[in-house]
Amino acid sequence: MGKYGQHIREDKSVLTEPRCPFCRTLFERPREVSTILGYFSGGTCGCGAVFSYDPTRKNMGEAFMDALAYACNEDWDLAQSLESEKDFEEKFVIYRENDHTLSSKAVSSNPKDRIVNMIFVKLKKRQTE
Ligand SMILES: [Zn+2]
Repeated sequence: MGKYGQHIREDKSVLTEPRCPFCRTLFERPREVSTILGYFSGGTCGCGAVFSYDPTRKNMGEAFMDALAYACNEDWDLAQSLESEKDFEEKFVIYRENDHTLSSKAVSSNPKDRIVNMIFVKLKKRQTE
């Protein structure tokens, strides 16, 4: 195990595992997800969440819409009609690509938070009409 093998692991190590913020399942490294408009870097979780990763942090708005549209089976009209909290939930994390971990830094829920580089979006179950 190396020189830290005898140490009791701190909870911090659990916090930094790359887990879906909705269901706590480990997620895979972002990959190129093909869409009708091109592709985005991200993936999906078994719980239905879609994540989108923007290492530059400059196009988080786009990354968010990519994830939301993908969650809507690429129905952009539907995606643009959805309301946060009512129709879907979003979570923001700081992903570290080098070692495939999440930063344990607290992240605000503000998408404009400049340290955020990954967005998770999950549609809420729609009420049957
Ligand atoms: Zn999940």
